Amino acid sequence: MAAQQTPVVVNRLCTSCGLCVDICPKNVLELTENLHVWTGSMCTVARPEDCVRKCRFCEAICPHFAISVVDVGVEVAFQDSHGQMVTKSR
Ligand code: SF4
Ligand code: SF4
Repeated sequence: MAAQQTPVVVNRLCTSCGLCVDICPKNVLELTENLHVWTGSMCTVARPEDCVRKCRFCEAICPHFAISVVDVGVEVAFQDSHGQMVTKSR
């Protein structure tokens, strides 16, 4: 059983500097235009399924503490009636 994690951006803190976008090894994040009332663009989690979750480079590099990698659920692995391993998210 493992917790699933995903990056979350607090939009009022993001200055759209792009540091997290550049450092992410899996290209999960991108700057999207017309999302922020002051800066225009904002960091968004464009491909959450590609996040390797444990590296947290995005969280570490953000100078404004605007991005966090948080638990979003629990992944449960079990054997079904045919003896096959099955993984489900809850
Ligand atoms: S590093 Fe922080 S402030 Fe910069 S784009 Fe990413 S979330 Fe926004
Ligand atoms: S935790 Fe790692 S892989 Fe996931 S978005 Fe942040 S930098 Fe990218």
